[in-house]
Amino acid sequence: MPIPTELVGSLPRPMKLQDAYESYDQGKITFEQLQAEQDAAARDSIERLQETGETIVTDGEQRESSFATYPITDTLAGTGLADNLAGDGQYFAIFDDGHHRQLPRLTGGPFRYKTYASEFVEKNQAIASKPVKQAVIAPSMLMLLHPLEGEIPGYSREQFLDDLCDEVEKDIRQCFAAGAKRVSIDFTEGRLANKNDARNPWTGKDMLQEFIDLNNRVIDRFSPEERKNIGIHTCPGGDCDSVHSMDVPYEKLLSKMFQLNAGYFLIQCASENDKEKVYELCGKYSRDDANGVAQVCFIGVINPLSPEVETPEQVKDALVAAAKHIPVERLGATDDCGFSPFSRDVKPKHGSPDFARDIAMQKIRARVEGARMASEELGV
Ligand SMILES: [Zn+2]
Repeated sequence: MPIPTELVGSLPRPMKLQDAYESYDQGKITFEQLQAEQDAAARDSIERLQETGETIVTDGEQRESSFATYPITDTLAGTGLADNLAGDGQYFAIFDDGHHRQLPRLTGGPFRYKTYASEFVEKNQAIASKPVKQAVIAPSMLMLLHPLEGEIPGYSREQFLDDLCDEVEKDIRQCFAAGAKRVSIDFTEGRLANKNDARNPWTGKDMLQEFIDLNNRVIDRFSPEERKNIGIHTCPGGDCDSVHSMDVPYEKLLSKMFQLNAGYFLIQCASENDKEKVYELCGKYSRDDANGVAQVCFIGVINPLSPEVETPEQVKDALVAAAKHIPVERLGATDDCGFSPFSRDVKPKHGSPDFARDIAMQKIRARVEGARMASEELGV
């Protein structure tokens, strides 16, 4: 079987759509008018991805406030926030360029999603002529909605985590029921968990094992057959062309991440200084039997934070090098991250989000072609 290839999920939102989100926040347009812009950008994303040769497509998350907050708020500014949440929660991350992203704060129970990702899958299935994938958020991210210390009166932390796991399971099951071929779980907080950034207290609490155990509580509810198509995405962040945890030694995460009983992993690598080390660690720690499923390592061969377009030859060379450490039947190709995980992202290194969309398509085309060339060279 040729080396499979898959995108993480997001694409930059056209400036017109970003402006529509802002107008909606300001009450200048209705939700229906915002949705019309989202739908137009989603259709454009799917059609252009199909033209690149991408075998499995998404809407580029055009209808989502962000990869992390789509279940609980319509916009990043907090318009349409779900019940029992306030806007002033923990920082999810502080990025290297100084900007930060903040999560809402849980104020009471019960915790329920307002929007399930299957809504997007249903709409995308009606547009796409190729199989559709959907990225969903991990329970380990949303557990940070709970204040780091203390309890919420009348709603124990334990009850919250039970409710959260049920909601994430439902989110994934509904995506498959709506026709998604693959569902990947965004786990960008994994590497950040060892950051020890005093400005962001949760990153100093050694929470990685807790994250992994919580995520497995959900993943283990699925059969091996289902888990073949449930993935995990890891990265050092990718927002406004900046990162949040590239300085955290990757081994701290990679030595533990494959404890997750998922069938495949979308692993940032192209932007690492020492790629060989990443291939080695993935080869060493990924398992050919994770409770009944072999773990496929999709290696990041494209850097979505740089406007420089990789060549198919570079992609091919990276995959051939990776195959020296990772069995080729468990090797895939991906991008280091989504191209714009948050809806508001002007892609500063690219000059504009519209230009960044064009660049993204060129990069994806190079990945698809490079994976084909590597398959040929490796005889698979
Ligand atoms: Zn990412």
